[in-house]
Amino acid sequence: MNNSSRSYKAQRVIDRMDKKLNRQMLTSLLACVHCGMCTDACHYVLANPGDPTYAPSYKADQIRKFFKRHYDWTGRVLPWWVKAKSLYTDEELEELKDTVFGKCTNCRRCTLNCPMGVDYATFNRMARGLLVSVGIMPEGVAVVSKDQWEIGNQMGVLKEDYIDTLEWLSDELEEEFGDPRARIPIDLENANIVYSINPREVKYDPRTISDAARIFYLAGESWTMPSEGWDMTNFGLFSGDDDLGGAVGRRLFEKVSELGGKKLVISECGHGYRSTRCEAQNWAGWDVDFEMESSVITMLRYISEGRITVDKSKNQSPVTFHDSCNNARSCGLTEEPRQLLNLVVEDFREMYPNRAENYCCTGGGGAMSMSEYTPRRLKSAKIKADQLKATGAEYVCTSCHNCVDGLTDLIRHYKLGMKVTQLVNLVAEALVVPEVVAVPSVEIPEVAAAGVLAGHSVLVVDDEPDFVVYVSTLLEDNGAAVHRAFSGEEALRLAAEHQPDLITLDISMPGMSGQEVFERLREDKSLREVPICIITGQPELRKLIYDRPHRAPEGFLSKPIDEEQLILNVRKVLKIPHEKESPKTESSEAKKGV
Ligand code: SF4
Ligand code: SF4
Repeated sequence: MNNSSRSYKAQRVIDRMDKKLNRQMLTSLLACVHCGMCTDACHYVLANPGDPTYAPSYKADQIRKFFKRHYDWTGRVLPWWVKAKSLYTDEELEELKDTVFGKCTNCRRCTLNCPMGVDYATFNRMARGLLVSVGIMPEGVAVVSKDQWEIGNQMGVLKEDYIDTLEWLSDELEEEFGDPRARIPIDLENANIVYSINPREVKYDPRTISDAARIFYLAGESWTMPSEGWDMTNFGLFSGDDDLGGAVGRRLFEKVSELGGKKLVISECGHGYRSTRCEAQNWAGWDVDFEMESSVITMLRYISEGRITVDKSKNQSPVTFHDSCNNARSCGLTEEPRQLLNLVVEDFREMYPNRAENYCCTGGGGAMSMSEYTPRRLKSAKIKADQLKATGAEYVCTSCHNCVDGLTDLIRHYKLGMKVTQLVNLVAEALVVPEVVAVPSVEIPEVAAAGVLAGHSVLVVDDEPDFVVYVSTLLEDNGAAVHRAFSGEEALRLAAEHQPDLITLDISMPGMSGQEVFERLREDKSLREVPICIITGQPELRKLIYDRPHRAPEGFLSKPIDEEQLILNVRKVLKIPHEKESPKTESSEAKKGV
């Protein structure tokens, strides 16, 4: 084929590569001697013995061959000798997409095992960026990138929902400590710490925010959360789009500077920490003049300085630790989490291999957003599942929200029965509240919580009767009126009949699926405003959340769920302020035999 027969997109990919070729990239592209020492480092290889297309060097060669054909003299002069080959068609670009997005999580474990210093993940990211620049990428990558470009965070959380969440978390905190100062300060100027988070915390896991707030309050910290520019995650790291990476980093840096914050603290997220602290300054061309720190280090410092006191006997269950690839391999954050764990849990069990040699959770590199590769991802997770199982731990702790999702998914798939947690949760659990802080007695929150959902009706939809009973009982114990549906058809009928305030909906049901129920509810004029909380055992179906043109579900929970998680999320969706906790309902009192 000659140049004139090359597709427009293939030509652009080749042309744009020129701008990406820095010294680090060139070294990695040229240094491979095909020794094969990196092969068994990759979890995809271990899960697919005999398939050479998963080997890091094979995958790298799919990028290397067109680099050599156009940018290396050996490939221009003797293409047949160095296996140089150009790109011509859009089909070839699609094949490349499958390799760079679907067969690598950019975990960099192969890098560690390469004697020549080849960093495949670096130019795999570059290849992703080249494809993204011509619109070739998995749909999930396109949707998440769009939300981060347009709404300012990668989960499309609206400003009013974010502020609303911080407000009701503040209300709870103030009530817990009986102190009007125990609130989450928003846009406080000249604070010591500006705290940035992963949008997953607002949307699905607000407990991590309230636990962090509890720690800041007890440490007597001067801190704040920004009203805008608060997302420290950066999908540009995954998609290879440096423009997006720069725009996201700039938003956060600008906000910290505007507030006059002295230090930016980044909550537990591996790729957020790496992109914000190490990469975004380059992408954004921004010279940061404030300190940046992982919240893991902040918490450890508070304990060592005596600003908070912890009691490890409050965390008795065996806990192991999963090193996020970005934290451990790319940022060297390996010892501080272990120092912290040894201070706050009784039984910490190391996982092997660990630290920089740890295996990926398999959800890295944006893999959780690429549902088309889910079976491949879960197959490759077998090595991680075996690692986890060998520890015998009940909990796996990780300092990364992405890993929380990846681990939760594989634990469910391989039926390991473990729970996933983060350091902020374990530290908050171990906190010893000093006497000078007015704390309500233990009974008060329990009694108060009894009627928190009083006056609200919920339709629970799931084909598993045990699960329906479990969720219904939790909701009723908290004062809600509950209707139960065991199929899609029954759900639509009961929704029309009772017009509930909220519907919890399973996705995977025989007959009419939860997805169809969701769509029909959204298309029904009289029901489309009813908030829906998806509760599913198959979180990869969260793609549904992003489906257009329907409004996304208002809540999303992965099974298994616990009471605290369910009630927090239901309250958030129903926007129930803490004042509603006070009145006790007749029914809840009667149920508890009071
Ligand atoms: S270990 Fe390094 S030199 Fe050897 S095949 Fe892998 S990337 Fe190439
Ligand atoms: S970066 Fe990780 S997933 Fe990608 S090839 Fe290397 S070891 Fe495999």
